[in-house]
Amino acid sequence: MDIIYRYDPYQPIPAQECNTPDDAERSLRDGNLRHEDMVAKVRAEVMGGDAGRPVVIPSSPLSLGLSFVRGEAPVQHPFALVLGCSDARAPIEIIFDRSSNELFIVRVAGNVLGTECLGSLEYAARNLSRDLRLVVVLGHSGCGAVAAAVELYLDPSGYGAIAATHSLRTIIDRILFVVRIADKALERRCGPSASSEPGYRAALWEMAIYLNAALTAHDLTRELGFTDPDGPVRVVYGVYDISSHRVGASPRADRTFNPAPRSNEDFNALSDHLADVVLSCGLLKKADV
Ligand SMILES: [Zn+2]
Repeated sequence: MDIIYRYDPYQPIPAQECNTPDDAERSLRDGNLRHEDMVAKVRAEVMGGDAGRPVVIPSSPLSLGLSFVRGEAPVQHPFALVLGCSDARAPIEIIFDRSSNELFIVRVAGNVLGTECLGSLEYAARNLSRDLRLVVVLGHSGCGAVAAAVELYLDPSGYGAIAATHSLRTIIDRILFVVRIADKALERRCGPSASSEPGYRAALWEMAIYLNAALTAHDLTRELGFTDPDGPVRVVYGVYDISSHRVGASPRADRTFNPAPRSNEDFNALSDHLADVVLSCGLLKKADV
C-alpha cells in the first residue's frame, strides 16, 4: 500500500483556522478519524486484503516546519496544548494526524502533572495564547503507570520496592488517589464484596485511566486559570485506545473529549458512570447477575 504526501505549489493548503475551542476539538477529532482510517486500511492489506488505491495526503512545506521566507524560522503557533503519557505506543501528533507547529506537547509517564510539566504548560499558555484554543489531557488504554498504581493499591506490600525511589514514587502517588475513587464507585454499585468479583482488577484499571486523565484536566483548569466554560480556551480530557486507535471521552463513547470536571459532584458522577460502563460491558461481572 502506498501512502503519498503530496505538495502541489499551485494548490497550496490553506492554514487551518481554529478560532474557537469547538473548532480545535473538531480538528483533533477529524485528525484522529483519519489516523484510525489509515490504520484500518494498512491492517486490511497486511491481513491479506486488496492493496487498494494509494492514500494521498495533501501536504504543505509548513508541515515540515519550514518557512516560506528563505532563512527565516517559523513563529510558534500551536492551537492546542497536550499533556500525554510517554508510552511509545501513544505518539500524539500521529494519533491526531497533526504536523509541525500545531500542537505543544508534554509527555510524561501516566500523564501526571508534576511541577516541571506544569511549568512547560504555563509557559505555553502565557506566551502562545494568540492561537491557543484547547488544552487536552490524553490518557491511553494499557497504561503501565496506572497499572502499577492499581497493583500497589491492591497489594500495598509492594510499595516497599518503590518507597526509596523518589522519582517513581512521585508518579505512582499521584495516581493512587483515582484508583481509590474507582474502587469506591465499584463498591457503591456492587457492594462491599466488589473486590472479589471477577474482572475487578481490570475494571479498576480501566476506570482509573479515565479518572486519572479527568483529574489532571481538573487540576490544569485551575492552575492555568481557564475556569470560564465559555472562555477562549477549553480544558478537556480523553483516552487513546491503543487497539482501536480511537480517542474517546469514555469507554464506548462517541465523543472524542469531555470537558474537565469542575467539582466533586462532577468527579463522583464520572466515577459512577464509569462503574456503570464496566458493568454493562461485562468487564466486571457481579456474582449475582
Ligand atoms: Zn501510559
